[in-house]
Amino acid sequence: MVDVETKLPEVFQLQKQQQYVVKMTSAEERIDKLQKLKAEILAQAPAIIEALQQDLDKPAFEAASSEILSVMSEIDYYAENLKQWMEPVEVPSRSKGAQTKIISEPKGQCLIYSAWNYPFMLLFLPLVPALGAGNVCILKPSEMAPATSAISTKIIQKVFDESEVAVFEGGVDVATALLELPFNHIFFTGSTHVGREIMQAAGKHLASVTLELGGKCPVIIDEQVDLEKIVPRIVFGKYMNSGQICLAPDHVYVKENQQEEFARLVGEYIQRNYFENGKLTKEDLSKIVNERNLQRLKGLLEDAVSKGATVRYGGEIEDGRIYPTVLTDVLPDAKIMQEEIFGPILPILTYTDLDEVIEQINARPKPLGLYIFSEDQRVVDNVLSKTSSGGVAVNDVIRHMLEPNLPFGGVNESGIGRYTGIFGFKEFSHERGVLYQAPVGTNPLETFAHAPYKGKLEMLMQKIK
Ligand code: NAD
Repeated sequence: MVDVETKLPEVFQLQKQQQYVVKMTSAEERIDKLQKLKAEILAQAPAIIEALQQDLDKPAFEAASSEILSVMSEIDYYAENLKQWMEPVEVPSRSKGAQTKIISEPKGQCLIYSAWNYPFMLLFLPLVPALGAGNVCILKPSEMAPATSAISTKIIQKVFDESEVAVFEGGVDVATALLELPFNHIFFTGSTHVGREIMQAAGKHLASVTLELGGKCPVIIDEQVDLEKIVPRIVFGKYMNSGQICLAPDHVYVKENQQEEFARLVGEYIQRNYFENGKLTKEDLSKIVNERNLQRLKGLLEDAVSKGATVRYGGEIEDGRIYPTVLTDVLPDAKIMQEEIFGPILPILTYTDLDEVIEQINARPKPLGLYIFSEDQRVVDNVLSKTSSGGVAVNDVIRHMLEPNLPFGGVNESGIGRYTGIFGFKEFSHERGVLYQAPVGTNPLETFAHAPYKGKLEMLMQKIK
């Protein structure tokens, strides 16, 4: 166990000194650093997958694709584009003979917190832009995924000197000790509740923040769509990682007369894809991260049922997992409709008119993701124009996050700031405006602004007119 009290200020001080050395690195040097990180991730891929299985029983396929490949392709994207992003941008000047440029400089000392649901990806995906932008960083992995925290630490310590990137493992005590330090930027992934505390703590030092938070992502299904075709996309997004995804569809709205068919199709698809000979295929479904969360989800289910909800499929609990579950007749006052579900339970809600759905969505905090299944552009435009969310996928769920040219992030209670691709580079950079003034005497009007002002106000007012 690291002695946080002495070690933390020491590393922070080391990084404080090193930050300007790192700031001066070229695009090539930064890419080289990222490539070294990529090579080490690749070398440790089997150990990362094993750690994710220990922490979450995460299917190896999901671990490889969503945790490892996503980070490696972000590194490739940075390798292709970083040089261009780092170029100063020349912009027109108002002053005669002057030049104006915007320089992207690193924010400096950054702190990155990861959540437990994608404990590897959520630690390393923000590290890519942090390093690309030329920062020094301290990482705080999630204590709820201890095996992944350990392998992540091993990778970082192998690739980086602690004066550039350091890791502090631990729980809330370490997390809060870190908040005492005057970082320049804090990048936090986690719950909205803790996000508020992070923002408050950041205020002490006026650190900028990126908050990647949660929420209830709704799915709206227009009655014209072919339900059978869209069900696989919704089931995939809802039950991957056992629904422990910030962008997972939280609940679905279908037209009243389509509820039966939709519930049946979802149930049949679950049956075909998650069961073999009537038994759950555990290797396709992560476990719930810990007993506390399992009990939380059980409580949400029981509360919904006690208030009139019908369990259409699933509901069973076995070996740390909740079977993919589908609910209908869920009342708005059920707890499951009050908080982010973050588990494999899908409430199906009905509507008669789309405006009711829009009203319900707008009565809640703005979600991280909003999903619309419709072939009718007018329906899509109507929903887009009357709602707000971090991002949107039309005719799909979650996959907008994988688009390198789209910003990923929330809005208000689902988050502040954005990342991936150039948006991450900008998030970890300070856009510094630089004026190169023309030589004295180039602009005859320059001294007009200097005192004495006598007689100048009238001339100025003429200009304002
Ligand atoms: P959490 O807020 O409990 O923990 C996140 C991190 O904050 C951990 O590293 C933890 O150690 C630290 N932490 C906990 N208490 C703290 C405190 N008082 N002060 C400072 N740091 C503290 O979140 P979680 O349970 O790990 O993750 C689940 C939540 O994260 C869900 O709400 C989910 O939607 C959200 N999430 C969001 C995204 C996104 O990209 N928007 C991605 C994944 C998860």
